[in-house]
Amino acid sequence: MNLSERDKAVNWHPYTQMKTADIIPIMRGEGVYLFDDQGNKYIDAVSSWWVTLHGHAHHHIAKRVSEQLNTLEQVIFAGFTHEPAVQLSENLLKLLPENQRKAFYSDNGSTAVEVALKMCIQYAYNQNHQKTKILALKNAYHGDTFGAMSVSGRSAWTQPFGEMLFEVVFIDAPTAQNLESLKKYIQTISDEIACFIYEPLVQGAAGMLMYQPEDLSELMKFCREQKILMIQDEIFTGFGRTGKLFAADHLSEQPDIMCFSKGLTGGTMPMGITTCSLEIFNAFLSDDQYKTLFHGHSFTANPLSCVAALASMELLVKEETLERIDLIAEKHSEFVKILEKHPKVEKVRQTGTILAWEIVSNQQTSYFNDIGKLLYKEFLKRGIILRPLGNVMYLVPPYCITGEELDSVYHHIIGVLDHF
Ligand SMILES: *Cc1c(COP(=O)(O)O)cnc(C)c1O
Repeated sequence: MNLSERDKAVNWHPYTQMKTADIIPIMRGEGVYLFDDQGNKYIDAVSSWWVTLHGHAHHHIAKRVSEQLNTLEQVIFAGFTHEPAVQLSENLLKLLPENQRKAFYSDNGSTAVEVALKMCIQYAYNQNHQKTKILALKNAYHGDTFGAMSVSGRSAWTQPFGEMLFEVVFIDAPTAQNLESLKKYIQTISDEIACFIYEPLVQGAAGMLMYQPEDLSELMKFCREQKILMIQDEIFTGFGRTGKLFAADHLSEQPDIMCFSKGLTGGTMPMGITTCSLEIFNAFLSDDQYKTLFHGHSFTANPLSCVAALASMELLVKEETLERIDLIAEKHSEFVKILEKHPKVEKVRQTGTILAWEIVSNQQTSYFNDIGKLLYKEFLKRGIILRPLGNVMYLVPPYCITGEELDSVYHHIIGVLDHF
């Protein structure tokens, strides 16, 4: 049996209808490229589900992780600590809004969100406040565990579990037009609201829906006045995707809590981090044992993941990486002008290195839109991995992509749009 057949015999893939699944074995990765078992190479234009920052099998990260493997691979993080975790928290917190002062480790994006939600709910509980409602944005995506699903928009993905998800108040993403009515509405229920969770500027999984930093800043300012805690989910937007290091760098207000994963380790190792302000942290300091945050995962602050994150962040803040990020954003802006004129394209949008547009179709916009599947196959044939969300197409390239490689991706996009 070849690798595909052996895979089919034993593996169950994520977000995949296994009855019709077509799974490609990847033998190795190098920079922006992935190589399959037939000798084909693909440009990874979606950064392997938005995680890869500097390209595949990056030597610097590989070297640091392999050195760490021979020093300390894992240690229980309750009662113990290690240099990589201390250094990583120091380095990360320095790049965040200055109110972010403590880091809590977990091992993926969904768990980083679970931790953030628990911090907010228990923050109220520890002070004998009765606040259990959560505010979230319509179309939000915060992960696939039950708490994270609850604060995500209701969709085909959450439908089988609908009855079991806790109550959340969903509001529209803020715009100049709806801000005043949003504020009025929130004010009527603000006493019961423990926190507001949001993906800043870009709602990724919903189809790269974008909204403006001024409008989010204004809504954050209002939440602060209403004493509603804010959880900023930067799992996708963090580490340069929006053109700045964090979406926070576009905003004039500071959140209480922030969530990170995906690009955190450059896409090398699984890791989640939830950071918070001293105000949150201090509400858990007590002689009363019941005020402790009773949460943890076996691999909390795994030293290998910490070192991968340290190595990735060293690369990220280099001048040449920041220039690459600017270059991608500039080239996307030029390509926007071309896309906007294309008869099969509508709703072109861009935030930094994230570019998205919709394919004009008579089917309604939905994750199950068939066009997405056809386009996915067509781009694979052309050696490009693009994974449309329904009729929404998007580019989220790793920062190592060159101008010529980007031009080639754009060229194929127009070629496919012209011909299907
Ligand atoms: C991907 C994602 C998550 C979930 O992260 P996982 O590591 O896949 O659990 C949460 N929030 C946002 C904004 C995401 O894009």
